[in-house]
Amino acid sequence: MRERKKSRILIVDDEKTNIDVLSEMLRDYEIIGALSGKKAIEYCIENPPDLILLDIIMPEMNGYEVCFALKNNSVTEDVPIIFITQKADEDDEVAGFNAGAIDYITKPFSQKIAMARIKIAIERKIKDDYNKDLISTDALTQIPNKRRFDEYLWIAWNFAIREKKHLSLVMIDIDNFKLYNDTYGHLEGDRCLHLVAQTINDQLRRPPDFLARYGGEEFAIILPNTDVPGGIVVAEKVREAIEKIGLPNKAASRGIVTLSLGIANTVPNRDITPYTLVKNADTALYEAKDTGRNKVVSFHEIKP
Ligand code: GH3
Ligand code: MG
Ligand code: MG
Repeated sequence: MRERKKSRILIVDDEKTNIDVLSEMLRDYEIIGALSGKKAIEYCIENPPDLILLDIIMPEMNGYEVCFALKNNSVTEDVPIIFITQKADEDDEVAGFNAGAIDYITKPFSQKIAMARIKIAIERKIKDDYNKDLISTDALTQIPNKRRFDEYLWIAWNFAIREKKHLSLVMIDIDNFKLYNDTYGHLEGDRCLHLVAQTINDQLRRPPDFLARYGGEEFAIILPNTDVPGGIVVAEKVREAIEKIGLPNKAASRGIVTLSLGIANTVPNRDITPYTLVKNADTALYEAKDTGRNKVVSFHEIKP
């Protein structure tokens, strides 16, 4: 398992002294406090913690409502929640689990038992994160796989609808890669794919930019908040970076490994799906292949 930073626990309570007591008890973890449900939700969306300890009785928004809101947001739904509360009735506890909590601790509590329960929750979260990484990472190239691409595309799409922002997609295909395998063998082919993936990734500068292995020797870049000229700049940078390496592919017409890239862009709305963007980027990519390879074509430039 990968080295991890200290696990981060968010404590939500309208009484500052309660936060202080729990912080002292949990000093082995990184602790953040929030004095209201609204603050807690804002923080979680920005930076989801590894665990939330949630009070129930709070003014404005109670703990059940906070829990419900977090469980219904794709960014925060996987953050485990433990209620810590004076509400000790059977029905209160059942309501807590129904809201999506994984545990329910009633006050007054034994410090030792509470800490053991929190430790178990954190250990489970670390395992879940690890498994999630495993199923969404391509083993050969160590970048996100198609499954993660589909997830991220929907997240970026919905964000762009809400914010009325541009979204660009770049589809990338290695030129004459069959010849590369035929010439150097599949093991070298695999090494080439790894190098290409890492090189493309190195060209992406903004945190929301996202690269995935889309298929065999195909990659895709999602560029949130990026218009057509912006997408062309990134795609051209990627094309040049691979060309500059000059990795020999002696049977190919240029003698080196090159890429063809197709870009599509839209300001998303609910009448279309992201797959229109994929289809258009693919069309542009095929145009790049048809008109000589080692080039970037934007869907918007293609003559009907
Ligand atoms: P084009 O320029 O038109 O894209 O030609 P191409 O040869 O790249 O395209 P084609 O689709 O004919 O061949 C793709 C090749 O990619 C064939 C396949 O063996 C190879 N490939 C796909 N996945 C892998 C992989 O994981 N490892 C290796 N070594 N090769 C792969
Ligand atoms: Mg291909
Ligand atoms: Mg190819």
